[in-house]
Amino acid sequence: MLELKDVDTAYGAVPMLRNVTISVGAGELVCLLGPNGAGKTTTFMTICGVVRAQRGRVELMGKDVAALGTENLAALGVGVVPEGRRLFPGLTVLENLRLGYDAVSGGKLNFEAQLDKMSSLFPRIRERLRQEAGTLSGGEQAMVALARALIGEPRLVIMDEPSLGLSPKLIGEYFEITQEIHRCGTTILLIEQNAEMGLSIADRGYLLVKGRVAQEGPAKELLSSKAAKSLYL
Ligand code: ATP
Repeated sequence: MLELKDVDTAYGAVPMLRNVTISVGAGELVCLLGPNGAGKTTTFMTICGVVRAQRGRVELMGKDVAALGTENLAALGVGVVPEGRRLFPGLTVLENLRLGYDAVSGGKLNFEAQLDKMSSLFPRIRERLRQEAGTLSGGEQAMVALARALIGEPRLVIMDEPSLGLSPKLIGEYFEITQEIHRCGTTILLIEQNAEMGLSIADRGYLLVKGRVAQEGPAKELLSSKAAKSLYL
């Protein structure tokens, strides 16, 4: 569903990603790990076409992202949870969810039924539907951002450091929900700094260090590897 092949990305003259090759197949939960400044968000931006790859190729659902354009990713069935949630703060929770639904579903699903699904997955959302998103707590915003990405039933969800700023209890809840979504068949690329949590629910993982893939493999193997351990010990 997602493939990065030998991707280089730079900010002006400063190289950031080097030779990055990453794939996410249908049904997988893949975790992209890395310390601060490793290039995780740059990878996310490159996948979404916000930052252009200088070399190599980025494909989503077999389509070249550079030719496709960022604005057309949702219609392909790609849901995103950007770093910092990026809700529309002046719109209500319901309006934020409606935008996510309209972008991804292509009008093929029933909005009320999808809203019910999201309310059972995130029980606190139901009582907050009329509240402005900007007035929600950080934890509530995180849940709404995920619900907004999911409500149109995307085939692939890409999440950029969703656990950032959440309390340990909420992080636990968040990862349980992510696991549940995966069990129900959604393909996920989870970009995370929390290696232990990320790998504990992933099938496979990639470790990004200084813009390069330093290690990759089954999540269990990466979890016990020295390089990944140095990230969380
Ligand atoms: P973190 O976990 O801290 O969010 P990250 O792995 O997501 O880190 P990136 O945000 O991809 O890292 O940043 C990688 C490097 O690229 C950093 O050194 C950052 O300062 C630099 N960088 C990011 N965006 C830009 C930009 N627009 N212009 C110039 N440099 C940038």
